[in-house]
Amino acid sequence: MTRVAIVTGGTRGIGGAISVALKDLGYTVIANYAGNAEKAKAFTDATGIPAYAWDVGDHQACLDGCAQVAADHGPIDVVVNNAGITRDGVLHRMSFEDWNEVMRINLGGCFNMAKATFPGMRERKWGRIVNIGSINGQSGQYGQVNYAAAKSGIHGFTKALAQEGAKFGVTVNTIAPGYIDTDMVAAVPPAVLEKIVAKIPVGRLGHAEEIARGVAFLCSEDAGFVTGSTMSINGGQHMY
Ligand code: NDP
Repeated sequence: MTRVAIVTGGTRGIGGAISVALKDLGYTVIANYAGNAEKAKAFTDATGIPAYAWDVGDHQACLDGCAQVAADHGPIDVVVNNAGITRDGVLHRMSFEDWNEVMRINLGGCFNMAKATFPGMRERKWGRIVNIGSINGQSGQYGQVNYAAAKSGIHGFTKALAQEGAKFGVTVNTIAPGYIDTDMVAAVPPAVLEKIVAKIPVGRLGHAEEIARGVAFLCSEDAGFVTGSTMSINGGQHMY
């Protein structure tokens, strides 16, 4: 049986690598994205993975988007909540809008996608939800109270929902990446990035494919006894 998997923010960066890894393992993969249609089209052309646009921070859009995916491809067995944004700034300069937007998308997106898909997984007695947290949700980070709070919230969300899903064959886990060489990290000033890399024991940034391999394991049949856990993939930068 082919499992249907949705990867939010699945058309580029870490999400793109996750989409490709799951497709290579035989899943029917659907990549969601926010609005960068050019990147999404290039991704679909290159991989054959269909891309659907909706805002994961919009509750009704998630319900409608997932209903459309299920109508087009069948019931959704796997959700990877990867979509995320940064709106960095020290607290005394951070606007309420920047706080809210990061909470709405990074943490609210996990709730919205789970509301749209968890009931079906529970009924069918099989499901995999993998939430992408962050090293900065584990350790905190200067200038990121919004992002660190949202990513930290993902850990609590994961552990609570894991308890609800366990007896129905639905596992819920978090992967907490360290610094990975994507567009998000390319936005960090080079001088700051140099200091960050100096603190990574492995001595380099991670690659999106290294996160994707962790996600692929957590989505597999073999990972049925792994739930409520956090897998840190960070080159040894933060040992938790
Ligand atoms: P990118 O900025 O490279 O890609 C983000 C993806 O998320 C894009 O596909 C984007 O769509 C999508 N997206 C953004 N907002 C929304 C939204 N509201 N609804 C739907 N999709 C949305 O990010 P990364 O690949 O670097 O990061 C992926 C995840 O990993 C994020 O959750 C991030 O916080 C986390 N992470 C990243 C780290 C890193 O070092 N890169 C470190 C730790 C965690 P579109 O293309 O349309 O804009």
